[in-house]
Amino acid sequence: MTEFRVQLRRRNISEEDLIGDLKRVATEMSKSTVTASEYSSKGQFGVNTFLRRFKQWNLALEAAGLEAPNRQHIPDVELFENIADVWTHLGRQPLGRELEKTDRLSKFSLGTYESRFGSWNKALLAFADFINSEKTLTPTPKSHREVTTQKRTNRKINWRLRAQVLIRDNCICQMCGASPAKDPTVVLHADHIKPWSKGGETVIENLRTLCLKCNIGKSDMHAD
Ligand SMILES: [Zn+2]
Repeated sequence: MTEFRVQLRRRNISEEDLIGDLKRVATEMSKSTVTASEYSSKGQFGVNTFLRRFKQWNLALEAAGLEAPNRQHIPDVELFENIADVWTHLGRQPLGRELEKTDRLSKFSLGTYESRFGSWNKALLAFADFINSEKTLTPTPKSHREVTTQKRTNRKINWRLRAQVLIRDNCICQMCGASPAKDPTVVLHADHIKPWSKGGETVIENLRTLCLKCNIGKSDMHAD
């Protein structure tokens, strides 16, 4: 048998009511933030009512002057990787306000960077320090049995090394001059100058920026 339910229509709930009740729950729990599930067990209104009004739970927390917990737990490395992504997509250093654009180029808001680093400029400085601290791997000594076959570096180019290469080359394809700054459809890669398969190492001196077209054209001639 199906349980009988009535649907009660609540009077229009004001933003003040919602924020007030959110603050009340935080105060009762003596916490600086409240998760949606904590609120749903102690709050007066439905979590969906908040989401309809504020779009995101974090934005409701912000409106109530509470901490948005998800933002506190983003590791620095993810924030840096996102800067590298935005930078290489734009083909140049991003402006702080470009993080707020609606095309979702950036995964994180300018406010996230400002609260973590103090300002966008300081975030860029910390990013540069982090990227530049990626040192070229020191080749490991070859054992006597592996003299001709042993690779010293991994073929894979990690994102920090890739960012170093693309930023060093001003995000410009070193063969045809294409750049996402001029043409947003251009996709750039870091490419081994001397192919890895032919003994080229994954070190910044042996890497260059190529666009996808040139990279494909090049691999027609020899496998990288
Ligand atoms: Zn190119």
